Amino acid sequence: MIAVIGAGPAGCAAAIMLARAGRPVLLLERQAAARESVCGEVLGADAAAALAQLGLQPAALGGVPLARARVGWGRREAGFALPFAAWGLPRQRLDGALREAAVAAGATLRAGTAVQGAEPRPGGWRLRLPGEVIAARQVVLATGKHAFRGFPRAGAPPGALGLKLHLAGVDAEDAVTLLPFAGGYAGLQPLPGGGADLCAALHGAAGAAARDANAFVAQVAEGSALGARLLAGAWPGWDRPLAVAGVPYGFRAAAGGPPGLFRIGDQAAVIPSFTGEGIALALHSGVAAATAILAGEPAAAFQARWRRRSTWPMRWAGLGAWVLRQAPGAFTGAAAIAPAARLLARGTRVSRC
Ligand SMILES: Cc1cc2nc3c(=O)[nH]c(=O)nc-3n(C[C@H](O)[C@H](O)[C@H](O)COP(=O)(O)OP(=O)(O)OC[C@H]3O[C@@H](n4cnc5c(N)ncnc54)[C@H](O)[C@@H]3O)c2cc1C
Repeated sequence: MIAVIGAGPAGCAAAIMLARAGRPVLLLERQAAARESVCGEVLGADAAAALAQLGLQPAALGGVPLARARVGWGRREAGFALPFAAWGLPRQRLDGALREAAVAAGATLRAGTAVQGAEPRPGGWRLRLPGEVIAARQVVLATGKHAFRGFPRAGAPPGALGLKLHLAGVDAEDAVTLLPFAGGYAGLQPLPGGGADLCAALHGAAGAAARDANAFVAQVAEGSALGARLLAGAWPGWDRPLAVAGVPYGFRAAAGGPPGLFRIGDQAAVIPSFTGEGIALALHSGVAAATAILAGEPAAAFQARWRRRSTWPMRWAGLGAWVLRQAPGAFTGAAAIAPAARLLARGTRVSRC
């Protein structure tokens, strides 16, 4: 039996591919049901291509088509047509659809089960669940951005704070809008049925934004005239933003690792959020790990290959994140914004590697 720990995009992608090939798959997820998580909810062409392989389409799931990108900083703003198709799709919907697809493919989903530890044993792995111990031949580790117990993330950079809030009273139009502000940057995207998702990455201290929805909206709005205009009538859907601390942007798992343990998604690499490529990387790494397992490839060889494949997307994203932090005006000032953004958008796509 192959145990997949974590039913996010990465774990579900691996589970679907393995179960479809007739392998016995146990998908273990600590949350009882799919729910909203801190995410900008932008799906680009790479995510759509991976979803198509898994039998899903963003549009059929109710994703809102996004045609443009725009950036606001201070009094300046710039915009350009996106060089590929993209959608805004709430995570609860996406994760729910992926879990259903995994079960339909033949995987056994145990939701509401937090895996407490994993130890190698001759010929496989032993997993500790609440009140029981189970054996697995291989383990696919897809638990997201934080360290799984017993598997510290060597070299993980200092964590950022991620925040997300659904808003009514905002017309985000057909655009993904990047809004840098003092302390970080936010993305604003339309939601199916109206309203918008406001999602931000903050450097360093959390500040008031994490504690109060209105303070979060105000902090983003202060960064630009565009933000102030778009958020003027915003009505927070929740009292407090969803928050996740310690996001290790730039982390990449080492090339090696123990036999039979495949690290995927954010367990393998955490790409800066402004790229909107995290879900794409997660889905593609899940498909790649399943392909490696089906081919009988050792985990260390898969890990080394995935590390190589994610090198350029991570480098381009790191460069963009650095510019965004040091000189956010660069994203609005130059006449070259559209070609530069297109270059960045191409460079961060894992399907090109
Ligand atoms: C601020 C922010 C904005 C972002 N915006 C975007 C965006 O617009 N577009 C985009 O593509 N990406 C975006 N991302 C990145 C994206 O959210 C992640 O890259 C993606 O969710 C990674 O998928 P994953 O399956 O690896 O992990 P996750 O989605 O985190 O899934 C991990 C799963 O494992 C489960 N789990 C964890 N521990 C255990 C355990 N011990 N036992 C059982 N289950 C466990 C969790 O409950 C969860 O369901 C953003 C991230 C942040 C922080």
